[in-house]
Amino acid sequence: PFEKSKGQHILRNPALVDSIVAKAGLKPTDTVLEIGPGTGNLTKRLLEAGVKAVVAVELDPRMVLELNRRFQGHPLSSRLKVIQGDVLKCDLPYFDICVANIPYQISSPLTFKLLSHRPIFRCAVIMFQREFAMRLVAQPGDSLYCRLSVNVQLLSRVSHLLKVGRNNFRPPPKVDSSVVRIEPRKPLPPVSFKEWDGLVRICFNRKNKTLGSLFKQKRVLELLEKNYKTMQSLQFAQDAEMGEEKMSADDVALLANMVEDLSMETADEKEDDEMEMDDSDMGGDCGTSFKEKIMGILQQGDFAEKRGSKLSQIDFLYLLSLFNKAGIHFS
Ligand code: SAM
Repeated sequence: PFEKSKGQHILRNPALVDSIVAKAGLKPTDTVLEIGPGTGNLTKRLLEAGVKAVVAVELDPRMVLELNRRFQGHPLSSRLKVIQGDVLKCDLPYFDICVANIPYQISSPLTFKLLSHRPIFRCAVIMFQREFAMRLVAQPGDSLYCRLSVNVQLLSRVSHLLKVGRNNFRPPPKVDSSVVRIEPRKPLPPVSFKEWDGLVRICFNRKNKTLGSLFKQKRVLELLEKNYKTMQSLQFAQDAEMGEEKMSADDVALLANMVEDLSMETADEKEDDEMEMDDSDMGGDCGTSFKEKIMGILQQGDFAEKRGSKLSQIDFLYLLSLFNKAGIHFS
């Protein structure tokens, strides 16, 4: 009686469970967070690996019952704490490392929830749907490189660990999977995440458009001009230049709210011609001089003819700094 809506696909290959645990590099002092323990196959191996504690968050009360039954009287049961609840809604406990075979429908919000948790963990080893995993690790120029790749890689180093076929699960899901390692960057790059995501969102709005044409869109120019005017009237621009735009924990926490539209479908699925008409018409409220200012910044860094899909983290950081120096902000 496994529930599809809860993404219940149980890992049935003990050798695979062992290699996931081995790849996690656990230490005896570690508190491990497991998400969606299900019937406890991974939980058991985590306990046997000799860690300090395993905290497992499971949504389904029936699974919680089954877990408690399975580990009752087990010599290591005192090291296991099962929390019944939705991992996206509950406060996460302290953990050093996260190891999990998660329900795939929560991949994106969960990833950002983990990355915004403080104190920051050492590493997470997580099973994702293959395509999501490939997006996480994609590099500039790869076909799956997208806003998700850029944002997750700003906050962490991501590497692909294992390919996992669907037949390792009962019942088998419709897609293949991959285990990925996520290691938060320490320290985080000194940028405001809201600003960063605002810029990246524009750059990936249409995958095959140059930044020159993306930044010419009326709605983009209007947004930037509005921010510009607000900043000027509040004299924030000056503060920003003095280095107050650090990424705080609160700032990263905003990520959790931002993830809904970080969906798997990105620019490549959208039609390019949707925005053709925006390209030419620059009259109206947005002054030509503001548009020229923006184009000037793009040209200054040689970005006008480039595409977001080819830009690295360093490129985005540099572009953001050019904009900010000119008093242009994305949030
Ligand atoms: N870890 C087990 C294994 O590898 O065999 C089961 C993994 S199964 C893919 C995902 C588990 O996550 C299910 O037990 C499901 O009930 C649970 N789950 C689904 N949504 C959840 C949520 N929002 N918070 C916590 N657990 C959830």
